[in-house]
Parts: sequence; C-alpha cells; structure tokens
Amino acid sequence: MTPLKAYVLGFAWADGAINSSLNYLAFVSRDDLTALRDVFYGPDRPVYRRKSGTYQLNVTSSRIVQELVELGFTPQKSKQGHPHIPLGLEQYFLLGLLDGDGCIYSTSKVLRVWYCGNAETMCLVRDVAQNLTGVCFTMRASSTASPHIQGRVLKNNHVCQTLDLRSSQQSQTFLSWLYTAVEGIPFFQRKYQKFLDFQRLYQTEINCFLCAVPVSRNGTTVRYCPECRLLLRRLSNRRSDHEKRNSYRSPFVDLLTAEEKERIDLNALASLG
Ligand SMILES: [Zn+2]
Repeated sequence: MTPLKAYVLGFAWADGAINSSLNYLAFVSRDDLTALRDVFYGPDRPVYRRKSGTYQLNVTSSRIVQELVELGFTPQKSKQGHPHIPLGLEQYFLLGLLDGDGCIYSTSKVLRVWYCGNAETMCLVRDVAQNLTGVCFTMRASSTASPHIQGRVLKNNHVCQTLDLRSSQQSQTFLSWLYTAVEGIPFFQRKYQKFLDFQRLYQTEINCFLCAVPVSRNGTTVRYCPECRLLLRRLSNRRSDHEKRNSYRSPFVDLLTAEEKERIDLNALASLG
C-alpha cells in the first residue's frame, strides 16, 4: 500500500462502482479524471465525457476488482458496508474520499468541510478524523430525497448520512492535515483551491472595514480594528437608548459625534444599518 493507492481507494469508495461479475470498475465524476486515468493506464485509454458533462473512466481488470473486494468493496457499497482504511495512510484515503463524496465550502469568513455516504462509512471517517486530528465531525441523517447543505443540493441518491465540521477553525485544522505531503497525488485542484482561497483571506492583513487602518487577522475572521469594534458597540447602545426615547430607529451615521465622523468611512457605516 502506498499513499497514491490509499488515495485511489478512498476515491473509488466514493465515486467508483464495481459490477456484480467482479471484473469491472467504473469511476464517474464531475471532475476531470485524466490524472486518475494515468494512474491505471497510459494516455491511449480514453476518459469518456457524458452528455451531462460528467467524466467516466472504466477499468477492466478482475485483479484490481478482486483487490478492492478484499478491502471491503461490494457492488452495494454506497448503501452499506465500510472500507478498510489503510493503517498509517488514513490521510490519503480521506483525501480521496473527499474528492469523491465530500465538499469544501469557503467564503472570506467561513470554511466548511463535509462528507456524505452510508452510515457505517461515515462513523468510521468521523472516528478516524477525530483520533488523528482532534476535530469532531457532526453526523446527521439526510434521509430526504434531495438533502441540502449550506444551500446546496446533494445529488448523490444514496446519501443517508452527512458529516459536517461546524467551525472554520476545525475545518482549517482538518484540511491542513489532509493536504500535507500530497506530491504525486492526483487530487482535485478545484476543491483544494477553495481551501487556499480561504487561507489567503484568513491569514493576511486586511484594512478595517470602517476606518481602513491595517488589521492583522491572525487566523480569525475580524473585519474591524479594535477602535471600530468599540465604536460599533457604542453605536448600538446609543441607538437602543435613542429608540426608547423617540420610538424611532435611527441609522448609525446619525448617532456619531463630530470626532467619530472625521475618523471613519460614512458610506461603509451606512451599509451596516
Ligand atoms: Zn477601524
């Protein structure tokens, strides 16, 4: 077993299917499978593009399928059963599984990771991740016909359980571990890029949204300098006092002192309420 094999195994558990005669393995994915094809064959073997836009790679080999069966694969694996995750190479297996049946969601403020799959597999993944990285995935049933996560519909019809990391910090810890020492692994850049985008925004300095002084984010998701954070607290207090007296909710800009007005960007403040 090698890191590459462990990755392919994880990916195959998610997006690969073996037939009942056990001589054929097919991968189907939204992402280009050319790099994966090169793991099995030379460039003369085609990767098919389906009408729906998904890619398909067929591997005809009873030897490979036999090996997969010994590692827990069955033609019904999407509904039941669990894989044998190679000891010491768990990271690569979980990376492959993420490329197949996982998602990374990121904005400048939020980083999330989730996996979906059958209950036995999800329990195993949750335990492995917790033992090796300390992060704690939340597991829940997604029994409806088209389950949603973060507003996205999961298209996998066999999904019965979802694992979800609820904080950006834990997602950061988990993904940093997942993407360590991955040279030579044909993982999907599309997903990795989401992690990189978040890290870039997360770690760099930003300008305070209200007064434009540089603020170091230091792994947090702050938008304001300490002075402006204090100002915003004061403004909400002033506003509620004002509202009690006048039964009218005034915009923040109307509650500023002359000195405060000098310091901050009034348009930016107006956009906050
Ligand atoms: Zn500021």
